[in-house]
Amino acid sequence: MTHAKADTEKPVAHKDLPGLQPPLQLAQEMETGLGAGQILFGALPQIERKQLMGQPKIAIIGAGMSGVSLARTLASAADVTIFEKSRGLGGRMATRRRPEATFDHGAQYFTIRDPRFHTALEEVLERGVIQTWDASLMETDASGAMKRLEDRSPRFVGVPGMTALSRALADGLAVLCSLPVQSVEGEPGAWYLMTQTGPFGPFDWVISSAPAPQTAKLMPFDQNEREALAKVEMNGCFTLMIRLPDGAALPFAASRVDHPVISWIAANNSKPDRDPAPTLVVHAENGWSDRHLEVPPEAVRDLMLEACQNLYPTIGWQEALSIDLHRWRYANVARPLGQPFLLDAGRQIAACGDWCLGNRVEAAFLSGTALAEALQSKFAKVFS
Ligand SMILES: Cc1cc2nc3c(=O)[nH]c(=O)nc-3n(C[C@H](O)[C@H](O)[C@H](O)COP(=O)(O)OP(=O)(O)OC[C@H]3O[C@@H](n4cnc5c(N)ncnc54)[C@H](O)[C@@H]3O)c2cc1C
Repeated sequence: MTHAKADTEKPVAHKDLPGLQPPLQLAQEMETGLGAGQILFGALPQIERKQLMGQPKIAIIGAGMSGVSLARTLASAADVTIFEKSRGLGGRMATRRRPEATFDHGAQYFTIRDPRFHTALEEVLERGVIQTWDASLMETDASGAMKRLEDRSPRFVGVPGMTALSRALADGLAVLCSLPVQSVEGEPGAWYLMTQTGPFGPFDWVISSAPAPQTAKLMPFDQNEREALAKVEMNGCFTLMIRLPDGAALPFAASRVDHPVISWIAANNSKPDRDPAPTLVVHAENGWSDRHLEVPPEAVRDLMLEACQNLYPTIGWQEALSIDLHRWRYANVARPLGQPFLLDAGRQIAACGDWCLGNRVEAAFLSGTALAEALQSKFAKVFS
């Protein structure tokens, strides 16, 4: 085990908070799950980390696409640590692993429209970390009638699961998993992240990439930023993950669904390099999900299954080998902030995420990298 402690150059301003982080453990076994506070340093050895002294220390909350893009772009100009509440990276680009199958239960695919996103992904595309998902996309109406949907943009997915992309982009970054940040305390230049294993800090800057309502709760923003955050609207989404018996016939690979309960259905096994076992991912409609957020999960599952049965009666729903339900409290962006990030340079806090620009993986990337570029130019002035 290797222990790392904070490189404390500035005096600890907040007298109640110790300047020493809890012991951190170097680990590569992300996939097996780490205990709270264990660190994944990727390819960044301890010795290199010490050479980062003199650079601003930055804590990023969240290891989804925006947080990882931000950290990756900032890594040459700052000493960055990501704090992630889940066991793994990726955020809503999520993959659920079950003994019998895997399911991408968050983002289903992404498109690449902006040249900056294209450039950033060239290398991972070459390595096969992302691949195109070429299956035909259908559209199902409320009566169950299906027609082929013409979509011209190539659809990309992580391989062998959606999380692969964030994991590849985070290679070499310091990421603390299974560590929910409970609050941010202190003052500019000496921020502390409070967690179940104690305070981490001091950090010069703290940046949240959590969904807008969670960022609003966590971050000590002033009135203007609070008001801007309050205007952002995010919807919930329920997701069913269904394992069907081997050989089960499906009338589609994937379909958008125009229905009051269901909005999307896909055979996860139609994506590249997945387990061939027939698996379905079903998303509920956002408005319906919001209205059912507090309904018992069994009732939500049954209502979604009933809708599926009516829409696709030829599928053997009764023979399903397993059915799981996931509730996304903040799944999609209904009303974005309308600017790429929030930045309070005086207090040295900021926020980014898909909720700044729109409801897409690419929006998360663009928000994270735009914030990184804005911070880089600030650091160049302050730390030169
Ligand atoms: C069901 C569903 C379907 C979708 N379908 C698509 C699609 O087909 N195409 C598409 O482009 N987009 C899709 N999206 C949207 C896409 O997933 C998001 O736009 C993108 O992944 C958001 O990335 P992000 O980094 O902004 O946020 P997130 O991925 O949410 O990352 C935020 C991270 O912060 C962490 N976090 C939150 N609070 C704390 C805390 N207190 N302490 C530590 N960590 C914390 C979270 O665990 C998370 O990992 C879908 C989303 C969902 C949920």
